[in-house]
Amino acid sequence: MTLIFGRYSMENMENMENMEKVEIAVIGAGLGGAAAAALLRKKGFSVHSFEQAPTFDRLGAGIHIGPNVMKVFRYLGIEETLSSIASHPAYWFSRDGRTGDYLSRIELGNFALKEYGAPYITIHRGDMHAVQMQMLPESTVHFGHKLTNLEEREDGVLLSFENGQNVFADLVVGADGINSAIREKLLGVEKPNYSGWIGHRALVNVKTLRESGLEFEACVKWWWEKSRHIMAYDTKGDGSEYYYVTGVPDQEWNHGTSFVDSSREEMEAVFGDNAHPIVKALIGATTSVTKWPFYNRDPLGLWSRGRLCLLGDACHPMRPHMAQGACMAIEDATVLSRCLEETGLDGYETAFRLYERTRRERATKVQTISNANTWLKQPEDPAWVYSYDPLTTPLRESLPA
Ligand SMILES: Cc1cc2nc3c(=O)[nH]c(=O)nc-3n(C[C@H](O)[C@H](O)[C@H](O)COP(=O)(O)OP(=O)(O)OC[C@H]3O[C@@H](n4cnc5c(N)ncnc54)[C@H](O)[C@@H]3O)c2cc1C
Repeated sequence: MTLIFGRYSMENMENMENMEKVEIAVIGAGLGGAAAAALLRKKGFSVHSFEQAPTFDRLGAGIHIGPNVMKVFRYLGIEETLSSIASHPAYWFSRDGRTGDYLSRIELGNFALKEYGAPYITIHRGDMHAVQMQMLPESTVHFGHKLTNLEEREDGVLLSFENGQNVFADLVVGADGINSAIREKLLGVEKPNYSGWIGHRALVNVKTLRESGLEFEACVKWWWEKSRHIMAYDTKGDGSEYYYVTGVPDQEWNHGTSFVDSSREEMEAVFGDNAHPIVKALIGATTSVTKWPFYNRDPLGLWSRGRLCLLGDACHPMRPHMAQGACMAIEDATVLSRCLEETGLDGYETAFRLYERTRRERATKVQTISNANTWLKQPEDPAWVYSYDPLTTPLRESLPA
């Protein structure tokens, strides 16, 4: 099925007869949207991705990907590539930010491979996203396409983009992040909640770190009172890149942008007082650091309506403290693709119902724990998160009692 773009106005509907359809339009080609497009293609659907950004850059940030999602990357044929460029931490350590005492040691590495069925990696998110995007034929990814309007019709959905293009699709997957236009269409305009927390993000100067002679663990979360923290980890397997992201209460965010510059001095003011020498060295190796507001939403009662459905942050955004937001988006994409494979395109109503019933309980649980920021602070068994396999989990006909 070929895609024909047109400059059709909503009023001028007779032109629609000459317009061929996209089977599935995925709005947003972020971590969840890219996975959804690849998975749906693998199930045999014709899929096109529409992304507002003109291109993707390698922005300075890392990400954890658990075994629950590495299984999906194995299925998509990119596990080895990602494994070869990522770090494989042997543990997730939690430590007191002042004394350095160990609060928990969660075993990963070979243990994760054996117990949970796939590796646990930390990686630069730009590197991971680039590998994901390589799975999609260029002709199916449409950059510079910001969705501005959509109209549901009996036989499909007419999508309108800011650049004046229109596309007609059988089904639409909203993978367009926390400020989702699809969510807005389904549920009306509602700004996400500012959580009262921000995060500083930095790739630090590894040479300066090494010169300190201290040991920088491959994956460690430093904790202070009221769950203030710095999560630090390798983003490359060879140890040449080290990254941190913080969580700090901050009553207001009035900058009007998604991030602003911060500074080493600000990091020292927030964490430096009596900090453990490793934390001090980490802050000392900071050359450039930005800070980001964390937004979230309450769990959604509606995941789909008609020919539209949501996944990832469009559906259940969360504070990032469980390192599972993108993993949930990719799990969603996996289950959604299985449901549509089961029912075929025409059975989309059943597929969307199965999808929500299979996903809602788990995504909401992760969203709740992530927002509470308690994950792995104390010794606990993470198997329920990491052992999960979205490729084989039973598709649920009904919601659990
Ligand atoms: C500091 C921080 C650390 C994190 N660490 C982790 C981690 O370690 N592990 C983990 O699993 N998760 C982590 N997360 C969460 C993770 O980043 C998100 O949950 C994930 O990116 C959600 O993916 P998504 O595809 O749903 O949305 P996004 O990644 O936000 O992608 C949405 C895409 O849609 C596009 N878009 C938006 N509106 C439109 C429109 N109208 N038209 C067309 N395109 C549009 C956007 O440009 C974007 O490309 C972290 C988040 C933060 C903030």
